Order: sequence, then structure tokens, then C-alpha cells
Amino acid sequence: QAKVGGRNQARFYDCSMSRDLVRRREIEAELRAAIQRDELSIFFQPIVDLETGRIRTFEALVRWFHPEKGELRPDEFIPVAEETGVIVTLGNWITKQAARAAATWPEDVTLAVNLSPLQIRAPGAAIGILAAIREAGLAPERLELEVTESLFLDDSESTGAFIEELSAVGVRFALDDFGTGYSSLGYINKFPFSKIKVDRSFVSGPKVGRKSDAIIRAVAEMGARLDMAIVAEGLETIEQVRAVSAAGCTLGQGYYFSRAVPDYLAALLLAQERNPKGVNRAAVG
Ligand code: C2E
Ligand code: MG
Ligand code: MG
Ligand code: MG
Repeated sequence: QAKVGGRNQARFYDCSMSRDLVRRREIEAELRAAIQRDELSIFFQPIVDLETGRIRTFEALVRWFHPEKGELRPDEFIPVAEETGVIVTLGNWITKQAARAAATWPEDVTLAVNLSPLQIRAPGAAIGILAAIREAGLAPERLELEVTESLFLDDSESTGAFIEELSAVGVRFALDDFGTGYSSLGYINKFPFSKIKVDRSFVSGPKVGRKSDAIIRAVAEMGARLDMAIVAEGLETIEQVRAVSAAGCTLGQGYYFSRAVPDYLAALLLAQERNPKGVNRAAVG
């Protein structure tokens, strides 16, 4: 009796495990083709100056509109792309597409692109990124690469060379999801980050309170002293915006301002912000 129950349970687990595995295998197989089939697209989420409300940067976030599976989130397919090495091809494509859009924006608006550790360690990574922005006509000073602390867990030599090579020509670096990984001050001391993005778990959710507020204040204070901008991620309410501003963050990102939008809407947001009347006329006429 117990044996039957046990077997059924085992079968149940096997089934759900293999369903997961099947889905991963499918994603893996389809990811390469997805680029050619035009199923992937780059969306852009504004990063806003908390004092003026103006858009300073757009972060490129990849989206996959699968014909059968619907919209797949990057959290589902980026890890598969990393495991299989497809991330290198995918990453080059993302940088190229994003840079093309960014080249059409006003010159004071910058582009942020997320990089996986694997992409950075691939041979010729720095050259690939420079080629992508050169082809698109985007100045290196307008590109900001977002990396997470996991990048520094091993192989810091090639990582250091990558960051130095790109920094030397004006590309900037942001430390993403700060506070979720090892948050070692050693990385901040060693590498030339111009921005720190405080993870959204410090802004909303069960871990938010006096302690998280004090941590944001301390990070903002450090940012001010080191000439680094501090971005608060995941701002969804005006209360959160006020709290992080009061804590000393200078930039903000989150649904309160805008979700990630397609390139034509990003361009429209910029146009609206710069010349509201002109855009309204154009829309009406
Ligand atoms: P990330 O770089 O930390 O990007 C921010 C994520 O938070 C995005 O999710 C964004 O849509 C989401 N977000 C922004 N504002 C809010 C908010 O107010 N509330 C909530 N709940 N979420 C908010 P997304 O687009 O699903 O991306 C997830 C992660 O996938 C990214 O985290 C990044 O690590 C990775 N990713 C996305 N695009 C790329 C890419 O092109 N290349 C690489 N290597 N990784 C990417
Ligand atoms: Mg990011
Ligand atoms: Mg982040
Ligand atoms: Mg993240």
C-alpha cells in the first residue's frame, strides 16, 4: 500500500521534472531560431532623474514572443541561453538592436544593456560590443553596461581586462541588483563603476523597513562620495519614490514611471518630454 503510494508519488515527481526538462530543451532548441524568426524584441524601460523627472537612460530588456508559448520572460530563457552558450550570439544581437534604437534618441539620453558573465568571458567580447555600437553609430559614452556581482565570483582577470578595455574608450559600467549577491566593497573599489543599482528588494516587499532604509541611505552616501549615481530599482508607488529620494538616491526606475516599452514608444516618451505640444499636434494632425 505504502509502496503503491510511494510509486505514484515518485511518478508524479518524475512527470513534473521531465515537463520542466522538456520545456528547457524546447527553449534551448528554439532560441537560436527565434532570432531569425523575428520572435525576439528589445524593450526599453526609462531610468529617471528623481529631481527633475526627466528620462536619463533607457535600459534594454529582451522579450521573446513565442508563437505557441506566448510571452517568455528573460528570467526563463536567459539562464538557458547561458547554459547552452547561445547567450553570446543572443547578447551580440541584443546590443546591436538596442544601439540602433539608442542612436536615434537625443544625445544626452544613454542606453543601458545587461551583460551575462558568460558573454563577458567569451573571446573577443569587448571588440564585439564596440563593433555593435560603432555599426549603429552610438558613441561609447552613451553606452552603459549593467553587470551583477556574480560576475566577480571567479575569473576576475578576464573580467578586469574587459572592464578596463571598454572603460578606456568611454563605456560606463553599472553594478546591477546591488545587495542581493556578495556586495563586496572590494569590487566597487577595484572597478570603475559610475552607477550602483540598489535591488528592488530594498524598495518593496517584506524586507522593507527601517533597516533597508538605513542601508539605502548608507549606499547613497557612499555613492555621493565616490561620484557614483545611485539608482533605486522597482519603484511602483509615489511613496517609494519619495522614500528613496529622501534617502539620497538620485535616479529611479520602476513601474511608477513606466514599464519597459517597445522602441517606438520609448522615442515617443522622449519626444513628449521634450516638446509636449509638438507631439500632440503631430498625433492629432
Ligand atoms: P534587471 O536587469 O535587474 O532588470 C530589471 C527587471 O525588473 C526587469 O525584468 C524589469 O521589467 C523589472 N522591473 C522594472 N521595474 C519594476 C517594478 O517596478 N516592479 C517589478 N516587480 N519589476 C520591475 P525583466 O525584463 O523580466 O528582466 C529580468 C532580468 O533578466 C533582468 O533583471 C536581467 O538580469 C535579465 N535580462 C533582461 N534582459 C536581458 C538582456 O538583454 N541580456 C541579459 N544578459 N540579461 C537580461
Ligand atoms: Mg539590469
Ligand atoms: Mg536590476
Ligand atoms: Mg535582476
